Amino acid sequence: MVPEYELLDIQGLDVSFRQEHRTTAHALRSVDLILSSGETHALVGESGSGKTVTATCIMGLLPTPPATVNRGQVFFKGKNLLSLSENEKRRLRGKEIGMIFQEPGKYLNPAYKIGEQIIETLMLHLKMNRSSAIKRALELLSLVGFNKNKRILNSYPHELSGGMKQRAMIAMAICCRPSLLIADEPTTALDVTLQLQILNLIHRLKDQFSIGVLFISHDLGVVKEIADKISVIYAGKIIESTTTNQLFENPRHPYTRLLMLSIPDATKRGSRLRSIPGAVPDAEHIPSGCSFHPRCPLAEPDCRKSIPPTKTYGDNHTAACFLIGKKWIDLST
Ligand code: SF4
Repeated sequence: MVPEYELLDIQGLDVSFRQEHRTTAHALRSVDLILSSGETHALVGESGSGKTVTATCIMGLLPTPPATVNRGQVFFKGKNLLSLSENEKRRLRGKEIGMIFQEPGKYLNPAYKIGEQIIETLMLHLKMNRSSAIKRALELLSLVGFNKNKRILNSYPHELSGGMKQRAMIAMAICCRPSLLIADEPTTALDVTLQLQILNLIHRLKDQFSIGVLFISHDLGVVKEIADKISVIYAGKIIESTTTNQLFENPRHPYTRLLMLSIPDATKRGSRLRSIPGAVPDAEHIPSGCSFHPRCPLAEPDCRKSIPPTKTYGDNHTAACFLIGKKWIDLST
């Protein structure tokens, strides 16, 4: 049966920040994104492109002021999150929407033992009594790969390694069986082996509990392994979006293509990695026309004058670039 509404449906979200010196930083520009239950949708872009502002909006943690939502809606199970009261948002956070951060320290309270933090969340949101909450906390810790003993339950966050803290945070994020999990660069601070373990863990839990995962990353290579769909964001605007297979088989936007060339290829030892010259513009000074034009090797005079519209190519593959379908130039040389 087709659900009445998507798990998460962001429509035309446009957010700016008023800066101290009275200038405006345009952080998100008409962002559209759909995430279905049981699916992983990756939001990928360089640092400063608007990924975390998007996550903050969904979590209802956007500070207004200095932020202003100029336009748009964020529907979660058909409910517009932007119109909820603080109490309603608080009830959703932790219960229906879980979040994992790059730095577990931002989420885990250093003054409380891991067990207390999980148990309190279970008692608050699920109204469990203490002994059931302890039992459930042990099950959760075992689910994320710890032994079913009380050592981790009785540990403070500083007594755990980086990978262990990340697992404990995942246990907390999923303790109330959320329908949506936002993972904001959850593996960036970890070494490659741990990175793989945490990615596999998120993937397994998503399948096991049919959670929708919004996976935020700067690394297309990482999300390739776990995402069903990918949206590429640049200077606060989604510039390409489609299924992971389609994106890797037929990337259309020059920015996406350049991001792909910067993924290390383990099969080609010694091959030169392509880096994208320049940097993401700051949100106060977004270039005119196509915001990527100062860095785009294919830019033409018209690219500076007007913003390329987002068009659909084939099956739900959207991209915003004037040159798509007109000419193809190899960027790898
Ligand atoms: Fe490059 Fe122009 Fe396409 Fe922008 S619209 S990505 S500047 S070719």
